[in-house]
Amino acid sequence: MSWIRLRLTFYWLAYRQTARAAEPLVIALLLAVGCRPPITIYNQVESHPQAVGCAPDACGDPERLISITYLGVSGLLIEHRGHVLLTAPFFSNPSLAMVMPRLTRLLRSSPRISADTQAIDKMLPRSADRATAILVGHGHYDHLMDIPFIATKRATTARIYGAPSVRHMLMGDSALRSNGGQRVVAISATTAGTRERRGVWYYTDDSAYRFMALIAGHAPTFHGWRRSYTFTVGSVGVDLDSLPHTAAEWKLGEPYAFLIDVLAAGTREPVFRIYFQDAPSEPPLGFPPSELLAERAVDLAVLCAATSSNVSNTPDSLLAVLSPRQVIVAHWEDFFRSQTLPTQLNPATDLHAFRKSLGKSLPRSAGWVMPLPQTTFRFRETGAE
Ligand SMILES: [Zn+2]
Repeated sequence: MSWIRLRLTFYWLAYRQTARAAEPLVIALLLAVGCRPPITIYNQVESHPQAVGCAPDACGDPERLISITYLGVSGLLIEHRGHVLLTAPFFSNPSLAMVMPRLTRLLRSSPRISADTQAIDKMLPRSADRATAILVGHGHYDHLMDIPFIATKRATTARIYGAPSVRHMLMGDSALRSNGGQRVVAISATTAGTRERRGVWYYTDDSAYRFMALIAGHAPTFHGWRRSYTFTVGSVGVDLDSLPHTAAEWKLGEPYAFLIDVLAAGTREPVFRIYFQDAPSEPPLGFPPSELLAERAVDLAVLCAATSSNVSNTPDSLLAVLSPRQVIVAHWEDFFRSQTLPTQLNPATDLHAFRKSLGKSLPRSAGWVMPLPQTTFRFRETGAE
């Protein structure tokens, strides 16, 4: 019933927009989302016969195991020898009506959104509390809005790493701002890597991980009619007095992908390499430095599926460069509804096109999986599966 009501709202808004001679692009976006019936995904979608990760009883020494839990959206919980690293967990999932920027304009007053602390507490695994780092690829609300609560109430010793805009927005939280805001690290563009240039390795405080930011882009939210629309572009150049109140105030900022190395205890030698992306980029943005890939292969690529088909040759051109042993397809589900409800495909995820693109350049020996949120995978060190 609520789905029908939502669709009727879309049509009404499209009509209102037309009457105001406003952007036809927005109408297209509304109709594109509104016309599609929801697709419920009951089981993970995966390659055959290759499975991703090792079966629990076939992973060998548990001390040499990397476990990775897909938390939904771009959230990952990575654990190795008890050391935890997180990427942008997000559980608040406000409805589409609360976050659609043009909708807020039509209603004159912008709906206020904030972290759903009960949902976070319920769905963020307890082991996340041990995290020493939280990596954030860009500033949109579905990557950053839950971070202040998580960092101040759960993972209370973690540092948060992101682009300058990410830091400026997080300074709106008084607890994160205290002590000079030391817990929030702004990674400048000059220390981030590109395909041609090596960036700076950042080490977590426990020396269990190192990571390099990679200058990336962000796919348009909608692409068609020879025009594109990207959700809340722009950067934030000064520390905010308070956290953003509306979806439109959580600005994209300067997007990064990350190369993450899991390190051996003591030696700081990488034992597993992860490529992490939380938005599709126009190639070659987001590509790692070639020399780094020559030094060590990527064991696991975590890719964003939503809006991937809005950029050309994506992700196949990236996969041709990464040549990963395995792939986790993330950020694919509808995050405008609670994670406790049956999981539905995000209307912006073109699963058919994504699978086709995976098939184009993923090595035949590589497996891939599009997991349901809260699914854990296990990997052996060195990526030997
Ligand atoms: Zn985004």
